Amino acid sequence: MSVNLKWMPEIDRGQVDQVLAHIKEDEVIGLLSDLIRLQSINPPGDVSGGAQLCRALLDDVGFDTQIVGPSNEQCSLIAKLPGHSGGPRLLLNAHLDVVPIGEHSSWRYPPFGAQRRDGRIYGRGAADDKASVAAQVMAGVALARSGVPLTGTLIITEVADEETGGDLGSGFLVDNELVQAEHVIVGEPTNGVLCIGERGRVVVELTVIGSTGHSAAPLTGVNAIEIMGKVINTLSMELWPQITNRDHPILSPSTATISFVTGGIKSNVIPDRCTIQIDRRIVELESVDATVAEIRETAERAVKGIRGVAIEAKKLIGRSARIINAESPVVQAAQLASRWLGHEPSLGGFFAGSDAKHFARQNCSTLIVGPGDPDTAHTPDEWVGVEDVLNATRLYALTALRLVT
Ligand SMILES: [Zn+2]
Repeated sequence: MSVNLKWMPEIDRGQVDQVLAHIKEDEVIGLLSDLIRLQSINPPGDVSGGAQLCRALLDDVGFDTQIVGPSNEQCSLIAKLPGHSGGPRLLLNAHLDVVPIGEHSSWRYPPFGAQRRDGRIYGRGAADDKASVAAQVMAGVALARSGVPLTGTLIITEVADEETGGDLGSGFLVDNELVQAEHVIVGEPTNGVLCIGERGRVVVELTVIGSTGHSAAPLTGVNAIEIMGKVINTLSMELWPQITNRDHPILSPSTATISFVTGGIKSNVIPDRCTIQIDRRIVELESVDATVAEIRETAERAVKGIRGVAIEAKKLIGRSARIINAESPVVQAAQLASRWLGHEPSLGGFFAGSDAKHFARQNCSTLIVGPGDPDTAHTPDEWVGVEDVLNATRLYALTALRLVT
């Protein structure tokens, strides 16, 4: 899907060249490689090394920088390059933490080696999300070095904790009003697609409550685990097929995953409780409350007629889908920048959650775009293409050039 650039004037060609001349492959890929080697696995999520590294580079070219956060380890960098006339603010954001590597033997390349091969950099965080971090920091460096005067303010935040929800990273910055901007770009692996929305997320904890008894006499109790089997079967056969039909022109279709199960007391006791957690990703027309209600109703239907059983459905997370206006200035500016770089921009929705949810609370327009294939995120041999990281650096720099100069 593309949107006409109705009103946007062209960017000054001389300024574009001035900025692009300051984006150097060895610096961008050097920073990305150093960040990968820093191993900021979450948990525990110590990102202090990466925050310091990015701070030094931005300090050097004149940004005002500070490192903030609830602890020395779970910390975030805020770097600001203020303009001279109080114009609009553009905030670039990406996360420094990474998920664990999983089974080491599944990796062909060292997970923290930042090995370069056939135009790719391999390592945990290569795509998610250190490529975006490196591209944003070096875009800021290029803009500052170019000497193009800013009217607005460029703010760069490289944060902790995104992989566990972001409350201690971007959430901390928003809660404490440490940053505020009219335009926000969250860097995540989108393969360069301009993502103007993301699905909502509802996590439901569903419990079957039965009663205990001696396992040598199964009829003396109500076996919650066996009844949960019926519930799961009914969810899979009846509700999930309906959910996958709920699609959207921008967002991925609605999905459901049963991601957690607990139950049982002891091998010779009939279990009186069994609990599952269901991770639902919802599209724009689905409400959080209706999502919880249809899971509860389906489970109740599955156990109808079974005596002595109760169902509990509890909402653990409830967040609606979010879509911004494709005509908003940040989207238009990024489209213009893409075209300057010779790519026809495509609009889409981000497949997972991101820190955009925190900035959305500030009533700004938040675009999600960054280098790297989303399918490689969280997998063994995660990688990002060198050329993709450089293109993202140029895209961030030229979008900033359009919005804050
Ligand atoms: Zn990410």
